[in-house]
Amino acid sequence: MKTLLPTSTAGSLPKPSWLAEPETLWSPWKLEGDTLAEGKQDALRASLHEQQLAGIDIVSDGEQTRQHFVTTFIEHLSGVDFEHRKTVKIRDRYDASVPTVVGPVARQKPVFVEDARFLRQQTDQPIKWALPGPMTMIDTLYDDHYKSREKLAWEFAKILNQEARELEAAGVDIIQFDEPAFNVFFEEVNDWGIAALERAIEGLKCETVVHICYGYGIKANTDWKKTLGSEWRQYEEVFPRLQQSSIDMISLECHNSRVPIELLELIRGKKVMVGAIDVATNTIETPEEVADTLRAALQYVDADKLYPCTNCGMAPLSRAVARAKLQALSAGAQIVRQELLSR
Ligand SMILES: [Zn+2]
Repeated sequence: MKTLLPTSTAGSLPKPSWLAEPETLWSPWKLEGDTLAEGKQDALRASLHEQQLAGIDIVSDGEQTRQHFVTTFIEHLSGVDFEHRKTVKIRDRYDASVPTVVGPVARQKPVFVEDARFLRQQTDQPIKWALPGPMTMIDTLYDDHYKSREKLAWEFAKILNQEARELEAAGVDIIQFDEPAFNVFFEEVNDWGIAALERAIEGLKCETVVHICYGYGIKANTDWKKTLGSEWRQYEEVFPRLQQSSIDMISLECHNSRVPIELLELIRGKKVMVGAIDVATNTIETPEEVADTLRAALQYVDADKLYPCTNCGMAPLSRAVARAKLQALSAGAQIVRQELLSR
């Protein structure tokens, strides 16, 4: 990628209100059948267009074709029963009614490959595709078959690898794995979580990212953040092992979070997607605020390895707020780009 400080988003963007209820997670579709399929494609086009108008360099589908970043992927697998639900605590944080693993899990057919191909047809810009990570997947299910978190994560890693290889073949430039669970289960992350992630990227030639965040701006997450104290040092637990891993990039929450920026030193050498947009507030960052976050990160990340990004997905925000935040991200990156070029 030739652009200095190429901008991108962590993943989801708001859906149009004719497709799904706005500003809601797990929002039900408003269309059905062929109309829904066509509606999803139109929404993907609109989302891409908004990213392009805002000057985003690495574009995505805005996750317009999925209801939820984890559940939609799992819905396409066999071995999981969505009728028999159990209530579990997700990420040790909030209760949710989740499906049950009742037999061997398998991917009978591609999940997002057609959508990725469609996005590829719409643009020559680099495209990034997000998938859930193995540990975050197992944390969103009740396992009545493997009865081992590690074993189930390993099975999911194999399935994710099949999907990732086909996404790569469809022309995806960067494949991202969302692992908010890496911020919670440190011992497991170091024992087998990162190994499972490496299994998921095995054999890929495209670039790979792990996205680790403090979650969407929903109440369960903002309440949890209040319990974390004045300094959020969660990343410190997993960075050393991630630095040694074969994953190319790490996507992190930086702006407005209490993560001490010097923790980035622990992943020196990796490419870093620096979250410079807070997704838990409707307040629009100024370009100067974005620039400040990027400048702080530049103390620990070489300029050619820094990718300005959002802290997390923006699905729960209004379209107007998300649009303004994307513009701020671009403008802030442009300020720092100029500074670097005039040095
Ligand atoms: Zn996130």
